[in-house]
Amino acid sequence: MRFFDPHIHVTSRTTDDLERMAAAGVRAIIEPAFWVGQPRTTAGSFVDYFASLLGWERFRAAQFGIAHYCAIGLNSKEANNESLAREVLELLPRFALKEGVVAIGEIGFDEITAAEERAYVAQVQLAREHDMVVMVHSPHRDKKRGIRRSLDIARELGFPMEKLVIDHNNEETVAGTLEAGAWAAFTIYPHTKMGSERMLEIVKKYGPERVIVDSSADWGVSDPLAVPRTAKLMLERGIAPEVVERVTWQNALEAYGQSGQIDAEALLCKPAIDQRQLFADNSVLRGQEPRVEGGVPN
Ligand SMILES: [Zn+2]
Repeated sequence: MRFFDPHIHVTSRTTDDLERMAAAGVRAIIEPAFWVGQPRTTAGSFVDYFASLLGWERFRAAQFGIAHYCAIGLNSKEANNESLAREVLELLPRFALKEGVVAIGEIGFDEITAAEERAYVAQVQLAREHDMVVMVHSPHRDKKRGIRRSLDIARELGFPMEKLVIDHNNEETVAGTLEAGAWAAFTIYPHTKMGSERMLEIVKKYGPERVIVDSSADWGVSDPLAVPRTAKLMLERGIAPEVVERVTWQNALEAYGQSGQIDAEALLCKPAIDQRQLFADNSVLRGQEPRVEGGVPN
């Protein structure tokens, strides 16, 4: 099977992870801009970060046969540093309209503050102006209220629900997200919160329509193989293969394919890998023999 992990922060992961993901069938990923673990102090840090998502990280994933797309946005945590937030919001259009950007994201609420709301409104408006998809991060605390607010604001701004992906849903929020007409994404965390078992029950109860599974793997305790692992469990527990395919491949492709940035045909081919390539004179290899392969349909 092939998988699409539409939320993973691979800049925090190693080449071992990329190799294991490709071997497990992960063909395509989306890396949304997010919080890097400590607050950035200047807009220049965001400039370099966004540039790395569009450049080096895209190259690095491709070196292991994984198509890399990204989402550009100001995360909710750092929206609370309002003077910096204003600068970052101003520079977003420079990056958000580039090739390989499939959404504005991840944006939304963390502590559900007025500053977070201002940044969210500005970015949903930017997405609407440019007919883009929005990837919404939902808060870990007070999740239900955060999601409700994200949906209400998008609706008030006239943003189309079919272009809104609400992420990090759980059993308490899934019905509201789906009823609103948005896509409901779920992050599978190892040992906690949303595990594969709970995801299986959600798919049984709500079906696969507009339901998306992702890993959100980052610098914290997380699992870059969460999508293939969850698919395996679903198949073992008797979920129909076409249902598993929808929630681990097709739905993400449809939701983010609305950007016009994803070549779905090309993703059906075994990816071409050419590790002789360089990015700004930089290679992922350290003296190893370069792999050169692929590019044929399978
Ligand atoms: Zn994330």
